[in-house]
Amino acid sequence: MLGLTAHPVTVECHIGSSLPGTTIVGLPQSAVREARDRVKSALENSGFEVSNLDLVINLAPGDLHKAGTGLDLPIALSILIATHNMSLSGLEDTEFIGELSLFGHLRKVPGILSSVLACQRAGRRLVIPTANSAEGGLVPESNVTTARDLREVVESLTGSHTLPAPPAPAAKVKTLTDRNPILGQEAAKRALTIAAAGGHHLLMVGPPGTGKTLLARRICDLLPPLEGDRLIEVAAIYSAIGQDRDDYTLPPFRDPHHSASPVALIGGGSTPVPGEASLAHHGVLFLDELPHFKPAALNLLREPIETGKAVIARANYKVNFPCRFQLIAAMNPCPAGRRCTETACRCTPGDVKRYQSRISGPLLDRIDLHVSVPELPPGMLTNPGSGRDTFPGSREIVIECRQRQLHRQRDLNAALAGKHLEKEQRQADVDEGFLKKAIDRYRLSARSFHKTWRIARTIADLEQSRIIRMEHVMEALSYRALDWENGV
Ligand SMILES: [Zn+2]
Repeated sequence: MLGLTAHPVTVECHIGSSLPGTTIVGLPQSAVREARDRVKSALENSGFEVSNLDLVINLAPGDLHKAGTGLDLPIALSILIATHNMSLSGLEDTEFIGELSLFGHLRKVPGILSSVLACQRAGRRLVIPTANSAEGGLVPESNVTTARDLREVVESLTGSHTLPAPPAPAAKVKTLTDRNPILGQEAAKRALTIAAAGGHHLLMVGPPGTGKTLLARRICDLLPPLEGDRLIEVAAIYSAIGQDRDDYTLPPFRDPHHSASPVALIGGGSTPVPGEASLAHHGVLFLDELPHFKPAALNLLREPIETGKAVIARANYKVNFPCRFQLIAAMNPCPAGRRCTETACRCTPGDVKRYQSRISGPLLDRIDLHVSVPELPPGMLTNPGSGRDTFPGSREIVIECRQRQLHRQRDLNAALAGKHLEKEQRQADVDEGFLKKAIDRYRLSARSFHKTWRIARTIADLEQSRIIRMEHVMEALSYRALDWENGV
């Protein structure tokens, strides 16, 4: 596997006439070289005698690095065929993958979903470990069967056993997960609903303990469930790191710590592994304490935000991982955090400016909505007696709103550009004199101005309004608060 792409490998076995031993050639990395010992034990413990032989195993193509343990099963089968003169049927159109235990059991391997997809496209059958069933059953119209151990695979090839197909994933009942109630913060909830509806990136600014993290998590209850290609794309990324997902239809939510390295965030490593940005694909990447992230890591995020792809180039490979995530970021208004209250901040304007400037302008520029999450009266946040946990949006509203956008322009409002955006501006019922004043007064850049229109379009969509009206633009302008303060 390279990135998320599975490549076919052909395993050949030759019985030589030299001293007993096994040699594996064809750029095997350490886990593959160790297959030698695992496979021999697995074969013998499954009742096949293979000792005292000189075996040469070749893995083709020879210029492709082979990593991981998934080649155990095909290596075992190739040895069996060479040494036992077995007449095995159905090998020609079947691929095999799986790690063997010393006793011949098949163990789970990462990246199965990429293999399933590759075999489906190539029209080939695939045998995988039973432990990988959850991923194996995700792809419709694929010809996948599962086996528990080496014996089962051999019996299926001699015709005495039929391997079962993995079960299709159980349809999950969509219920809102048990969330902690969030009281108050109506402005932030409204902004979250708009962000979810239009696919906009959001920055929450507020002191610690005001519920920013709880609010960010709530957006997962608003996003439409994953299905079809989107579900498979996300599952393939998690499969690559060997992780099952409890619910494959749930949009992922990732909240890396601010000490995360650029590789952890974007992906990389000696064999390419997806980073947090890709693990958040079609879901939410939540960056709490945004100014504390390493500037180098944040800078690397700019490109993926724009393109939806994390391109990782190293000396021996170049791969790209998809990462079309929605960014939700949070930060304190000043560097002192808990030591300051909103009304009594003792930081100097210089401190505050230095702190805020840790987030580069270009990254800030890519965040559509800014919303303030103010301090609440003591006890208000969690005390059920002090208010109601109301949320202005719901998954149904967001899904309907997104459908309206996709129907109109085949994209979410966050990506609205060019002639679609111009058309919206032409049709809008907005006082031009007011707009000019707003641009002058708040010194809005062209980019910021366009963002305002995109947000206004989403607000109009939430109200099922065909055209953008004055009140939509006014509300949208209120979400560009950081532009006013910084004169961006
Ligand atoms: Zn302060």
